[in-house]
Amino acid sequence: MSAKVKGYVYLVGAGPGSADLLTVRAVQLLARADAVLYDHLISPEVLGYVRVGAIQECVGKEPGGLGWPQDRINHRLIVLAQCGQQVVRLKGGDPFVFGRGGEELLALAEAGIVAEVVPGVSSAWSAPALANIPVTMRGVSAGVVVLSGHAPARLAWDALVKSGCTLVFLMAMAKTREISRHLIAHGLDAMTPVAIVERAGTSCARTVMSSVVQLPDAVVQHGLTSPAVIVVGNVAKVPERVQKALALAQWRVGEEATK
Ligand code: SAH
Repeated sequence: MSAKVKGYVYLVGAGPGSADLLTVRAVQLLARADAVLYDHLISPEVLGYVRVGAIQECVGKEPGGLGWPQDRINHRLIVLAQCGQQVVRLKGGDPFVFGRGGEELLALAEAGIVAEVVPGVSSAWSAPALANIPVTMRGVSAGVVVLSGHAPARLAWDALVKSGCTLVFLMAMAKTREISRHLIAHGLDAMTPVAIVERAGTSCARTVMSSVVQLPDAVVQHGLTSPAVIVVGNVAKVPERVQKALALAQWRVGEEATK
């Protein structure tokens, strides 16, 4: 079977949203693919790089489990590759960060289909970075843990709090109350800074600063919705420090000019 398969699948990361954060490799593959199967978070701007005439199918899973089940996506990829198509499976961010890319890679391998993984710019790092938040910083945070907020009861809260690392939660917007409660119950200072970065890398990106105790109310008050990442830790204070430093520097320049 495998010897007859001429098709090929590329598991490609599309970055957090804006097309200029695609990799060069992703753009090259989109320009020559026969078929592109993409997630619902992929922007029209990114799809603008798909070759005219290529098959385009949105196979995305939406919050709440609507959309294509994983088995159906795997099957579709296998069928297209077995028909000899060059297929791009385009996923938001990086295909291996909560993207189920590992499952697709294995399903393809079991069907005798070779796949190439093209890493993408994950929202786990890029959403904070676009908001001026370094997820690690000497003297502030020695590490970062990326977590799914989907099932908070299953997380090792004690270890997470003790680690002192920056915590970045994805898929967490419906669980902010539980996340806040678990963190405080396991000893994290309720006033620890939190940043919620919504729709990073798009024209409607927003960042809201809060604290662990105020996180759930901040989400409601500002009407924040998915997709967003929640950054917990002192690094979330860096944007404010940057603003203050810039204001001070500008004030100094003004003072110099008036001398
Ligand atoms: N593979 C993706 C993550 C998929 S899980 C990656 O590496 O980025 C989907 C979650 O990613 C969303 O619920 C949200 O938490 C986060 N996300 C994706 N795009 C985002 C964006 N543009 N801004 C903020 N968060 C985003």
